[in-house]
Amino acid sequence: MSSSPDPTTSDAGPERIIEGTGVAPGIAIGALYRYNVGPPEVDRTPIAPEAVEDELAVLEDALARAEQEIEQARTIADRILGAEQAAIVEAQRMMLNDEALLGPVRERIRTEHVTAGQALQSVLRGYRERIGESEDAYLRDRTDDLLEVETRVLRALERGRTVAQIEPNAIVVADALTATDLIQLHEHGLLGCVTTGGGPHSHVSILARALHIPAVIGAEERLEAVETHDRAVVDGQAGRLIVHPSADTLEDYRRRRARQQSLWAEQAQAASAPAETTDGHSLSVQANVEFEEELQILKEYGADGIGLLRTEVLFLSRPAGAFTEEEQVAVYRKAARAAHPHSATVRLLDLGGDKSLSQGPREANPSLGWRGIRLLLDRPEELLRPQVRALLRANTEGALRVLLPMVTHLDEVRRVRSVIQEEADRLSREGRAHDPTLPVGAMVEVPATALQARAFAEEADFLSIGTNDLTQYVLAVDRDNDRVASRYDPLHPAVLGLVQRTAAAGRDTGTPVAVCGESAGDVHAVPVLIGLGVTALSATPSHLPGLKRLIQHVSRAEMDALATAACEASNAQTVRRQAREWIAQHVEDAVLDAPDVSSP
Ligand code: PEP
Ligand code: MG
Repeated sequence: MSSSPDPTTSDAGPERIIEGTGVAPGIAIGALYRYNVGPPEVDRTPIAPEAVEDELAVLEDALARAEQEIEQARTIADRILGAEQAAIVEAQRMMLNDEALLGPVRERIRTEHVTAGQALQSVLRGYRERIGESEDAYLRDRTDDLLEVETRVLRALERGRTVAQIEPNAIVVADALTATDLIQLHEHGLLGCVTTGGGPHSHVSILARALHIPAVIGAEERLEAVETHDRAVVDGQAGRLIVHPSADTLEDYRRRRARQQSLWAEQAQAASAPAETTDGHSLSVQANVEFEEELQILKEYGADGIGLLRTEVLFLSRPAGAFTEEEQVAVYRKAARAAHPHSATVRLLDLGGDKSLSQGPREANPSLGWRGIRLLLDRPEELLRPQVRALLRANTEGALRVLLPMVTHLDEVRRVRSVIQEEADRLSREGRAHDPTLPVGAMVEVPATALQARAFAEEADFLSIGTNDLTQYVLAVDRDNDRVASRYDPLHPAVLGLVQRTAAAGRDTGTPVAVCGESAGDVHAVPVLIGLGVTALSATPSHLPGLKRLIQHVSRAEMDALATAACEASNAQTVRRQAREWIAQHVEDAVLDAPDVSSP
């Protein structure tokens, strides 16, 4: 890309706007780079004899990447319920380590001086042809696996090379990106990204937000027509890619970018100060974390620890059963270090419901079915006990807390406490280091739990209100169903009434009450939640500086008044209007750059 044109000036091409969905706000202005669009291509340029060792290293790197990807394809569901899928993946993994297959590939690179891709393709193609003619049906079926392995390694090879070739300040256009791609591209100075696939809650979208990389997904239309080196603007807020921007458009976006950057700088400053209201009330502003990579960026966003470490992705992204107790100990220790000097709240595995088991039993109402703590208590040996042991072992510095998902009955908290006690005793007998003082918190996601908040506040060490699920269950609106999405709002007075009840129970019993649903990152919801009495908020890391800045500019007394009016309102629209007016009245525009996340 060394011959790329100056991306900061407009060019002659007609301006084209490609619409998508903005998933990470911000403006990027630069030159496009098409990445991984279409099937992987094999480089057939002969390599120099002295480059053989480097080429072998490239192959090893690609094999490792492909193996990582294959592992990600296996899920915990396979472990519990479906052996067939796990067996297929295991077969592919074995192929990647099979010397009979890979020996000839390496040999070809050494003796024929061909690229790793060419060697791999020719060896595997020959192999496929041979077993495709076999009498043995099992062997014949392996041709698909071989093809899949070949494609994965070729793609991994192509990605490795592409990442190395991308110049700093590129806007990447791709069919899809993995989180690993994004991190590598970020290290290469990636400015923005636009993909045809992906979802707003995907790993890569969350990371893009966390890393302040403007990102647009679902940009299907005319994306194949864009070229590497085309000048472009990404508007991650509006969800727009503008190719060949006109001089006026560029000027407009340069102004917006400058404003955005100065806001981010101000927010970064706010993030390093405590979240204290103008009348001296301190709040704890914590991070929601789903991916190990996010642990590295918490300090930057001024997180007062981790309020919710969701463990589903940690399990689901590993091969079946391979999130071993030892691996869990390492991750939880890392989380405790990242949260220091605050605590890290680790939620027990919350499977089922929307995070459904791909191979699991079909349930007519999965959200009301076998999920969260119910599944864990029914299968304690497979999931609950190893996770509890790992938490106890990782808790040597006393910084961890455990949070129970989908709690409905008081008895569930008591039963988990017994399991913690039993596992702590067992660790003592085994002579293993651990800390048995692991505070136990209950998620308040089910209306019954909020209605019995006082009893839960006495039973648990802390409460955390999951407004995503609480809203779904209070309003009987599926949180993932587009058809009813307009009826879903955590600011509905009925939901707020339960938040208030829970906060009051916490205050009366001295039990901390947090909100960790998406509403804790919504600037309109936050003053209401604080006014209702919650003392901690836990949200996506990139939202935290904006939240702190908001809190630092308002008083608790003003928020109390807003919350009182909100509880008396007759519907969510009225509460939203009140919150908007309140913000306009009490907060200067410049303070408010935090994204408005009105639904999960
Ligand atoms: C919630 O329900 O609000 C919550 C935080 O849990 P999740 O979104 O993981 O279901
Ligand atoms: Mg939930």
